[in-house]
Amino acid sequence: MNKQFCVIGHPIKHSLSPLMHNYAFCNLEKQIGFRGYYGRYDLLDGEKLIDVFWDLKLHGANITVPYKEIAFAQSDVVDGIAKKIGAVNTWVLKQQKIYGYNTDALGFYHTIKDFGFKHVLLLGAGGSARALATILQQKHIKVSILNRSAARLKNLKEFECFTLQNFVMQDFDLIVNATSASLHQELPFEEILLKEIFKTARYAYDLMYGKTRFLDFASKFVPICDGRAMLIAQGALAFELFCGKEIAQAHSLMQSILQ
Ligand code: NDP
Repeated sequence: MNKQFCVIGHPIKHSLSPLMHNYAFCNLEKQIGFRGYYGRYDLLDGEKLIDVFWDLKLHGANITVPYKEIAFAQSDVVDGIAKKIGAVNTWVLKQQKIYGYNTDALGFYHTIKDFGFKHVLLLGAGGSARALATILQQKHIKVSILNRSAARLKNLKEFECFTLQNFVMQDFDLIVNATSASLHQELPFEEILLKEIFKTARYAYDLMYGKTRFLDFASKFVPICDGRAMLIAQGALAFELFCGKEIAQAHSLMQSILQ
């Protein structure tokens, strides 16, 4: 049996998800009992997300920037932590209903859980920052959020939030760049502030993968990690949801193809 999957977003051509998922589908056909094919779809009008899902006869999809909130709204059923986050990055078709999940949050947590961080500073207040803050709070790790502007902080009232105007320096041990500044090869904040923040930090993390100005600057002070580990972890969790069971090898297969 063949099943079709897809990543949907805009822009989408840089996405590594088709490579990761097709490699896993190709290698695990016997174990999962079907042959999966995974494509990409560049969607310009987010309101058409659900139409695209049905038109392409998909069994599942990953929904990425900037449509995770629309995916949440268009899901028939929202499961797990996605309900609290208000954003969905994985759709699975079950009995003709679209089930929505968020694997970004747990994917991120998998990558940091063994480090014993006590106080995380999230830079940025968009959808990813909300996912990360929710899982960190759920796992009893203190979290603070710093954003360049106040508007989006209104959606994050249950967390400690700052703009530059009221920012209070604390002993943050993990600094996560959850802004999209790296997409434009920009720093999220001025060097002088970042330098101050890195004084107490043990680690710097950028959700974007590859070389970024943020990680380049952070590496002068602390060890660094880019978004690749999170990409693989959220992808492996989505893959298991597509297959409806735990697949121990999914993570290592996805990791090996991205090396
Ligand atoms: P959103 O568009 O929801 O939020 C963007 C945030 O970045 C806002 O807080 C915005 O601030 C801030 N921002 C944008 N540009 C700048 C800038 N030049 N300087 C400072 N702040 C800026 O994005 P997402 O939360 O969905 O995604 C954020 C990043 O995370 C993206 O780069 C995305 O690719 C990456 N990502 C990686 C994943 C992975 O698996 N590795 C998974 C999910 C996301 P303001 O409110 O002031 O506009």
